[in-house]
Amino acid sequence: MTAATYDLMDFDEVLEKFDPVMGLEVHVELHTATKMFSASSAAFGDAPNSNVDPVSLGLPGALPVVNHTGVEYAIKIGLALNCSIAESSRFARKNYFYPDQPKNYQISQYDEPIAYDGYLDVVLEDGTEWRVEIERAHMEEDTGKLTHLGGAGSRIHGATASLVDCNRAGVPLIEIVTKPIEGAGERAPEIAKAYVAALRELVVALDVSDARMDQGSMRCDANLSLRPIGRQEFGTRTETKNINSLKSVEQAIRFEMMRQAAVLEDGGVIEQETRHFHEADGSTSKGRPKESADDYRYFNDPDLPPVIVSREWVEEIRATLPEMPWLRRARIQEAWGLKDEEMRDLVNAGALDLVIATVEAGATPDEARSWWVSYLSGKANESAVELADLAITPAQVARVVVLINEGKLTNKLARKAVDGVLAGEGDVDEVVAARGLEVVRDDGAIEAAVEEALAANPDIVEKYKAGNTKVTGAIVGAVMKTTKGKADPKTVNEIIARKLA
Ligand code: ADP
Ligand code: MG
Repeated sequence: MTAATYDLMDFDEVLEKFDPVMGLEVHVELHTATKMFSASSAAFGDAPNSNVDPVSLGLPGALPVVNHTGVEYAIKIGLALNCSIAESSRFARKNYFYPDQPKNYQISQYDEPIAYDGYLDVVLEDGTEWRVEIERAHMEEDTGKLTHLGGAGSRIHGATASLVDCNRAGVPLIEIVTKPIEGAGERAPEIAKAYVAALRELVVALDVSDARMDQGSMRCDANLSLRPIGRQEFGTRTETKNINSLKSVEQAIRFEMMRQAAVLEDGGVIEQETRHFHEADGSTSKGRPKESADDYRYFNDPDLPPVIVSREWVEEIRATLPEMPWLRRARIQEAWGLKDEEMRDLVNAGALDLVIATVEAGATPDEARSWWVSYLSGKANESAVELADLAITPAQVARVVVLINEGKLTNKLARKAVDGVLAGEGDVDEVVAARGLEVVRDDGAIEAAVEEALAANPDIVEKYKAGNTKVTGAIVGAVMKTTKGKADPKTVNEIIARKLA
């Protein structure tokens, strides 16, 4: 299916005429050992339908039992988001049919979520903070996974068969829903991306989820509406579903702003509907008309008692919370003596954890930062992967730094060693040995190369003897050429000075 072409209003023009209102719903899969309501493994990537049981298959008579750790993780997330934690909350049935959900209803929380009324302060690229208000964080279960065969890509359209894998059915999910985000204007796309990034960082720090957007363990639905500048009342929203990268969150909001503005400007109306996001061109296309809550016929699940959370338990959990990512950042910045913009570059490059690990492995903060934020970020960009997914570890970067400090590698040779590691040629020392990168310390070899270079450049020797001692650069260059860049620069300079004295 090719994405339809849409009339889009220029982004700047949108801002002159309309005020965007956003709402973000983020689903986080918890990495508990077992499912939310049964004892099957919640692991990702196992053989299809190997982690199933009567509850997750929805077999008649099977009864759900609440996963205690799932509730604990939900409370952790709620506390970290500055939410109130309900003393009593309930599970409800959200009724709808889909083949990835054998029970015909999803167990979720509806009007009594476990956590509500919080906020998350998000740091934007220019360093300013934006407070995103949280409406609620509630517990639910994930659905199974469908794989469509025979169509274009893995889409259902044109498919001839669909496979159902129930491993994911019943995996614990927390859905975090923001209050409407108003007044963001041109920053709406950036705020959406920064919020999802901050949430991801937070749940990883809490150690409750892998939050891998590429594997679906964190997904975002982005609601957007426009209202004419100056109007109070919200416009009709669309909900772009299952966005699975940070960049796509930003693009989806931007695209919907430009698309909806063009429709409204043309006298059209926005339908309340879900939309699909297309990574290929950053567009969205029509999904289904949005059900209202009534369509789901929510009612309390009679198989599950209310979740009663004592204040003592909440305080026990609060005491186990790790250092929050923003406090950790402030501490690191202070310890390393970084300027605000240096810290921002580090964070925006997604390099903070890698640099911390490299420092722990023996590099200084400056050395570690320089490798990750400049050379390795460049490499990650070239091959369009995340910095953390490059085929080099912090320990390997630290080893390269040690070899430079010991004078065994020049910066240039060190980059070649890093290239070799990235290319899968082995560990740092293996690459250095195999590629013959180590700096030549053999004075005899260097001396021969210097003599050769001096003999080939009598004019330079003459200028030097006439008092112009700055002309030796060409000699150093020639020596480096014969030694393939491996001569120790300090030794080369010493030998040149001695020969010409
Ligand atoms: P649904 O069940 O339809 O997904 P939710 O309450 O779970 O509804 O989420 C709706 C999200 O959209 C919330 O984040 C809410 O703040 C936001 N929202 C509600 N109305 C609007 C609107 N008119 N424009 C933009 N966002 C909205
Ligand atoms: Mg919702």
